[in-house]
Amino acid sequence: MQRNPILPANAASDAAPAVESENPPSDQPANTASATNSAPRGASQTPLVPLIQRIKDRMPLLDFVKQHTTMKQSPSSKAEHFGKCIAPDHKDDGPSFYVNTDRQVFQCKGCGVTGNVVGAYALIHGLELDDAKFKLGRDLGVFNERRLDDAESMLSSAASTFSWQLDRMEDAKRYLHERGLKDETIKKFGLGFCWGREFQKEKYQKDPALIDLAISTGLARERDPSMPNEPVKSFMTRRITFPVKDRSGRVVGFAGRILPDGRGPKYMNSPETAWFKKSELLYGAHEAATGISKSGYAAVVEGYMDVAMLHQCGVDNAVAVMGASANERTFASLWAMTTRVVFCLDGDDAGIAGAMRSVMAAAPTMPDGCEIAIARLPSDMDPDEYVLKFGESAWRQLCEVNALPLSKFVMESSKVKHDLTYPEGRARFLADAQMLAAAFAQAPLLRAQIVAEARAISATALVDEVLNGNGMGDGTSTLELRDSIALLQRHMQSRLARQGAAEAVDVDAQPSAGNAQDQVERPATPAEPAAAPPASARPSSPVQSRYRPR
Ligand SMILES: [Zn+2]
Repeated sequence: MQRNPILPANAASDAAPAVESENPPSDQPANTASATNSAPRGASQTPLVPLIQRIKDRMPLLDFVKQHTTMKQSPSSKAEHFGKCIAPDHKDDGPSFYVNTDRQVFQCKGCGVTGNVVGAYALIHGLELDDAKFKLGRDLGVFNERRLDDAESMLSSAASTFSWQLDRMEDAKRYLHERGLKDETIKKFGLGFCWGREFQKEKYQKDPALIDLAISTGLARERDPSMPNEPVKSFMTRRITFPVKDRSGRVVGFAGRILPDGRGPKYMNSPETAWFKKSELLYGAHEAATGISKSGYAAVVEGYMDVAMLHQCGVDNAVAVMGASANERTFASLWAMTTRVVFCLDGDDAGIAGAMRSVMAAAPTMPDGCEIAIARLPSDMDPDEYVLKFGESAWRQLCEVNALPLSKFVMESSKVKHDLTYPEGRARFLADAQMLAAAFAQAPLLRAQIVAEARAISATALVDEVLNGNGMGDGTSTLELRDSIALLQRHMQSRLARQGAAEAVDVDAQPSAGNAQDQVERPATPAEPAAAPPASARPSSPVQSRYRPR
């Protein structure tokens, strides 16, 4: 856990930052009607209260601290409270941590940390003070980078309206509860329900421009030209709504799930609009930002419900791609957030085919230094079911220890298409590898790893074939055979190293994936002793996974 320097109390900037040229946020109740009452962008309706003050007003320090530790009032002073220290790396035996509610500051007499509510938030989440201030401001709803324009405002109001309606829609709420979602998760992700007649209220009937805006933001359906007087229907009519936000937390569109007894496709997204560009968006990107930076990777799943459930179970680095499979632009968004992505897939064939499509979509722009790994769930199990049943640490094991590095996944997937018991099959397999590798135009290290992985698989098949052909492999277990081959590879490798095999980075000089991965410095992977995955975890190749959590 990294320790951030906590400034003395009140040292956190008390001035509003330059980037924040906006209003105090709307506290309006759910009401789409307020959508377009906002002043033009940049206009200021109320005097600007500094962000730090708005945060302190919204979240008193003691309330925040009490979310993390038990506090008692001091007998000598009403303003003084004490408890165990909240610093993650201070194992506090006695109550050393003091909060003064008059001054809104804390101090630990054990480890010396001190600060205000932003400092406390930074401490707990491992953030820099400035990041903590903006993040907490956003979480509390007291910070927006700038005033929302009419469209953004309408989208945000719609999210509030839907959320208000969900509270009054028993069927929908029951369904979410039955799926295992708690109210706090429903709130965190802003889930809602769309009745369908949101844009049929009188004020919309009176103002065609508002209807046009609702249509252009994807909130309302296009009118049927043959029935111009028909009232417009909401796009997400009779659906549970999942607001889709951009990374800064602005609502740009929705995903909608039908109720179990409803008709139509199970899931639907907002139509493509100027705000909702499906392929550039990741569901949960805003909520997962801190989790991704803390864990060092993003766990990518397919379902919106999966994301919400994973966060609820403590997996706070989960995001979902917005379509069936990710494309180049999705990856550009991912690489903007992290250098490591773990795809978590259903173990069935469709899941693997989908992953392969995603991976090849990433190929052209993926630079060395970025990593993709593939984690496979037991077949017939969705991520939300898995994490509910086995919990957070099993999930992390799946993503951080058992996940296959990309090179291995690509070649294992290709292997099943070839008969490796014949020289021709092995030759075609290797040619395939060259072709697959070539797609990763900007990643020479990965290209080398893919080819090396293919050679290892091919060599294993050859040795298997020779031994079995001579009746030598009969009494030998496959696992033993593979271990022996791995051993030979390591011998080969150290011999090459002794010979000063400078051609290590030359693809053709790689006798095995072990070589490629061991000889090539991988900048993103720290040199830490790695716990070997269980022998049974990945029996299909002699080369064990080098993928490690940061
Ligand atoms: Zn302390």
